Amino acid sequence: MQILATDLDGTIYIEDKLIDNVQESHNYLLNKKIKIIYTTNNSSQNPIRIQQKLENLLETEIDIDSVVTPLKVLNEYLHNKKFNIFIYGSQELTDYVSAISKVTTNINDADLILIGRKEKNDQKNVSEIIDFVNRGKKIMGMNKDLTFPTYDNKEKIGNGVVIKTIEDEVGINIQTFGKPDNKYFNYLNNKFKRIDFMIGDRVDTDIVLGNNLNAKTFLVNSSVKNHMKNNIADYKFDNFSECVSFILKNF
Ligand SMILES: [Mg+2]
Repeated sequence: MQILATDLDGTIYIEDKLIDNVQESHNYLLNKKIKIIYTTNNSSQNPIRIQQKLENLLETEIDIDSVVTPLKVLNEYLHNKKFNIFIYGSQELTDYVSAISKVTTNINDADLILIGRKEKNDQKNVSEIIDFVNRGKKIMGMNKDLTFPTYDNKEKIGNGVVIKTIEDEVGINIQTFGKPDNKYFNYLNNKFKRIDFMIGDRVDTDIVLGNNLNAKTFLVNSSVKNHMKNNIADYKFDNFSECVSFILKNF
């Protein structure tokens, strides 16, 4: 069986709207018995919410095991660790982590600082975090996306902005649980053995990850502006459905 991994934001949907013709193409893939893995760097929402969103938009059942998010990678990482975690991020991220680990609001007591995405950044909190990291406190992030796409073509500020600020201030590289970093790569690699195709709208996350997985990589044009040279993708198309037509015809 062939396996196709796809990105979600900007590739399958933008905010709460499916991109044109995605539903038909998705059905073609299912009819051809191609297994689909839904990959995302969204860590503000828990995996079940993302599964439900896909089920509603695509009007079909989605296996929760085929939805891979930084939260699932984090969950596996925290297994058997007794960390006390300080969280900078959404309430949903805090709720998710609280269910699998100890969480503290006192940064002093924390074994690990975890950086997610906040609707509004808290500069005072970020300065405090920089202070603690400078003094050796362990820090990790959910992903390094600097932006994510919205429907009116304005980009919203992503997780990566705070992480980049901290990295630049402290002079370190922060590991994350998102694409294309090692922990996400290993999770996919262990779980699915081989991924044949990767479709996504970002070179720095989707295409880099797909290339590392030895998949055939497809860059779509349906949302973000790419700041990296896009010639590292094997193929370029306007959108998901064009990629699917090409894959079904040629592989
Ligand atoms: Mg995307």
